Amino acid sequence: MSAYDVDLFVIGAGSGGVRAARIAAGYGARVMIAEEYRVGGTCVIRGCVPKKLMVYASRFAHEFEEAEGFGWTLDAPKFNWATLIRNKSLEIDRLEGIYRANLDKAGVEIVDSHAVIEDPHTVRLTRTNRTVTARVILIAVGAHPTMEPAIPGGELAITSNEVFELQELPKRILVVGGGYIAVEFAGVFNGLGSETTLLHRGDKLLRGFDEDVRDALGEAYAARGIRLELGKMVTRLDKRPDGIAATLSDGSVLTVDQVLVATGRRPNTSGLGLENAGVVTDEVGAVVVDAYSQTLIPSIYAVGDVTNRANLTPIAIREGHAFADTVFGDKPTMVEHDLIPTAVFSTPEIGVIGCSEGLARANYGEIDVYKTAFRPMKATISGSKDRVLMKLLVDRATDKVVGVHIVGHDAGEMIQLAGVAVTMGATKADFDRTVAVHPTAAEELVTMRTPFLVKTPVAVG
Ligand code: NDP
Repeated sequence: MSAYDVDLFVIGAGSGGVRAARIAAGYGARVMIAEEYRVGGTCVIRGCVPKKLMVYASRFAHEFEEAEGFGWTLDAPKFNWATLIRNKSLEIDRLEGIYRANLDKAGVEIVDSHAVIEDPHTVRLTRTNRTVTARVILIAVGAHPTMEPAIPGGELAITSNEVFELQELPKRILVVGGGYIAVEFAGVFNGLGSETTLLHRGDKLLRGFDEDVRDALGEAYAARGIRLELGKMVTRLDKRPDGIAATLSDGSVLTVDQVLVATGRRPNTSGLGLENAGVVTDEVGAVVVDAYSQTLIPSIYAVGDVTNRANLTPIAIREGHAFADTVFGDKPTMVEHDLIPTAVFSTPEIGVIGCSEGLARANYGEIDVYKTAFRPMKATISGSKDRVLMKLLVDRATDKVVGVHIVGHDAGEMIQLAGVAVTMGATKADFDRTVAVHPTAAEELVTMRTPFLVKTPVAVG
């Protein structure tokens, strides 16, 4: 008979927590999982999944326009926000049901409650005040959107938590931020017909991405009619009869119907009782863990966004799985956090794996840059202004492809497959000997032969 009520207590039923719970249960562990909101976490309930459904919705407008060049005549298409939100919510309900059923099937007990850590082996469920003892506790509580620093009238704005439940499509929207969430939602609202302004404190969107990608996105967004306010901040928001007046740092005032603030996320570590067990957090409140996701308290682990390593769903899932393998499967497993393929579901889409050009030059010194920008075939007779950018970065010493960057339709799908090659350590010669699939946009990835910029070695002697 075990000294503990359960072998594993998981706090948070999002991507990382659910995977850890199911895999641990598969190893025979007695597992309980607590969730205070909805099973599925940010990704399923108010993140990746509903966002992607909205991205799909937003892209039809452009498809309708393009159809004309191919001979279609359409009556002016009409969009109904309420239908989208209803259907999106039904799909999210369905997915939540599947998540619950899968936990159930795995023998994991789900408790719908906030949980607080009382000591290294005890958790209290606040809904019933019941305490549960566990051999191991896993913290997988994710993160939340922040609005920092607070500005006067900030309560008039919404975050990505509320955007999925808006009662109506805003006619005019101001999106604040220049990261993943801001650029994705600016694309969504632009596509759905809102007059969209994207305001960012920097001079280009998506800091950290390759400069060509950042330029291409900025140009594409401007061409699609998104008003870009760069190098500015919002200093106050005021409710007015005709909407929300946003005062910008240059003194100008923009009146809109909604303001969406997407200026980053913070780990959900307050109110969790971490101090009761001595779990250490860093300066942004993230739980500090080692490569096996173990905190400084041996019985407590943490995975996913709450650890602020790479805040992406597939990484949380990997961390959760690796934790279960390590602790309950007798297979110590670390998760590598480099070489992560990623997509930004802006329109046009972005797909990236590996280094930006700047980083590649810093890391490898001598690199060759292969780059092409072209009009996709579909745009030729549709008359669309869409462009595609593709870029390969090659370490000259080893011929290894160390970065792939794509901006254009289905870039996310393409980068998943290019990611296999790059993860395997493919060289430029491997790309070259891969036969092109014609006619596709992706074939450009294997047909670029001439380096765009050759860094000529300095002749010695
Ligand atoms: P990001 O960290 O991507 O971007 C935050 C943005 O807000 C940056 O442009 C940043 O500017 C700006 N910002 C930060 N603080 C302030 C401030 N005080 N005033 C004004 N601007 C500010 O965060 P997101 O919220 O967009 O996304 C969070 C995370 O979620 C991402 O990092 C990503 O890991 C994940 N995510 C992934 C998606 C995907 O895979 N497709 C989709 C959505 C989210 P600056 O650049 O100057 O710092």
